[in-house]
Amino acid sequence: MTPGPVLVSACLIGAPVRHDGGDKRVEHPLLARLRAQGRLRAICPEMAGGLSVPRASAEIRGAGGGAAVLDGRARVMLADGRDRSDAFVAGARRALALARSEGARLAILKQNSPSCGTRRIGDGRFAGHRQAGEGVAAALLRQQGLLVFGEDELEAAAAALDGLDARPLGDHRPGSV
Ligand code: SF4
Repeated sequence: MTPGPVLVSACLIGAPVRHDGGDKRVEHPLLARLRAQGRLRAICPEMAGGLSVPRASAEIRGAGGGAAVLDGRARVMLADGRDRSDAFVAGARRALALARSEGARLAILKQNSPSCGTRRIGDGRFAGHRQAGEGVAAALLRQQGLLVFGEDELEAAAAALDGLDARPLGDHRPGSV
């Protein structure tokens, strides 16, 4: 069967979409292979949600991380004090829409981001401290059945992708809401 597309944080493949106008390019054999195969589908959820470059940095305030933002129990705050939870939720939905339209079953996202973090995010104090948790887009993609890995989990992502590539699409299709 034809290997499927993989969703990726745009900053990880060199797009200058971070809040400070930079990128977080990662060189790794898995990303190089997926790029050569034409399987990468890049998105910056924050830009997709309507935020610009440059923009104030953001952190999730309140317990529960991205899942709590999705159901209204926590907020995403910009460093300048504005609540932009709406943009982060909209961007997460755009990421899910792209995954569905492309048939992506796995995502590789940027660790520590309030949108893309897969295992760690800022603790809400804007002091550079991290805590366990996931960003808003990572949480929504997982809720809807995608396998989600950070750029620091690429060996695990490669193994999971090998498993997905060996199975028909219908065995692991992202859910619908
Ligand atoms: Fe990168 Fe995600 Fe932040 Fe966009 S929202 S800059 S893709 S970590």
